[in-house]
Amino acid sequence: MAYVIIDTCTKDLLCADICPTDCVHPKKDEPGFEEAKQLFVDPVGCIDCGACVPVCKSDSIYALDDLAEGFKQFIDINAKYYAN
Ligand code: SF4
Ligand code: SF4
Repeated sequence: MAYVIIDTCTKDLLCADICPTDCVHPKKDEPGFEEAKQLFVDPVGCIDCGACVPVCKSDSIYALDDLAEGFKQFIDINAKYYAN
């Protein structure tokens, strides 16, 4: 399991700053940050600690089990960012 970010993400990096395993990207100093529509959770690095959820001001990050039916596509969208 891993946490998943959806497209209401504002790229303010609050979750990336608090993530203990550095599994939210791209960060501001990384390639592709400006072009990215949102940030993405690396499903391999995420340890399901949940620390990112309360810091998100736009309710854009969810545990898999809490992801509403209409947002399941973001599981793949997050994973694909790390597949290249
Ligand atoms: S659940 Fe924990 S490890 Fe996973 S993205 Fe959030 S802060 Fe990082
Ligand atoms: S805290 Fe929320 S809005 Fe900010 S980068 Fe993370 S998911 Fe996106």
